[in-house]
Amino acid sequence: MTSVTVWNEYRHERDSDTVAEIYPDGIHTVIADALDDAGFETRSATLDEPEHGLTEDVLEETDVLTWWGHAAHDEVSEEIVERVHQHVLDGMGLIVLHSGHYSKIFKRLMGTSCSLKWREAAERERLWVLEPSHPIADGIDEYIEIEDAEMYGERFDVPAPDTLVFASWFEGGELFRSGCCYRRGNGRVFYFRPGHETYPVYHNEAIQRVLANAVDWAAPGDGPQPTFGNYDPHEEIDLSDDRTVH
Ligand code: ZN
Repeated sequence: MTSVTVWNEYRHERDSDTVAEIYPDGIHTVIADALDDAGFETRSATLDEPEHGLTEDVLEETDVLTWWGHAAHDEVSEEIVERVHQHVLDGMGLIVLHSGHYSKIFKRLMGTSCSLKWREAAERERLWVLEPSHPIADGIDEYIEIEDAEMYGERFDVPAPDTLVFASWFEGGELFRSGCCYRRGNGRVFYFRPGHETYPVYHNEAIQRVLANAVDWAAPGDGPQPTFGNYDPHEEIDLSDDRTVH
């Protein structure tokens, strides 16, 4: 069974009544419950736990990590970023949510600023499926409409995704690449835009379906473990000194 760790900064829900009303037990609890219902083995971890809840043991047992952060990206320790990065390169899936675009781990994986435009005006978003045959779009209509969304607009300073599964239109006129697939090392990375803390986006069933699909997609495959470094030939070849010195 695919094992998921849902990571959340978990500060807004404790600091703001507005956010606490929508997510009384934290954004992570709503996401974890949805993934649990979808049949995944699910746990959560938050910033203020020792090692941010992401010990070596936890990551070792994690097939896919989801990441929601916003106000406290700087408080995530370099040691944990390095640890998560290594696990992604080794094959752990990573789903970066909404304002996680500015997290240390996503910026490190992308190698760019990951900056974007934004506006908080409770405007309509239409999240269009661009790749209907992609497994992350399974069971989704042509688009998902979100009544109250925070706008994110292009340019989104990320490398061109391997596959762009979703793009958003906003009432104010902007557009955005909202569902971006990447591979880094052996790991699969999915960036998914919706999910501002003052709107009930993660309660939306279609959004929950996308998250479950993304976990399935990002879970490690059964491909071979690559080998690196100096390598003995498979066939007999001349390795005498006069051949190796050019
Ligand atoms: Zn936001």
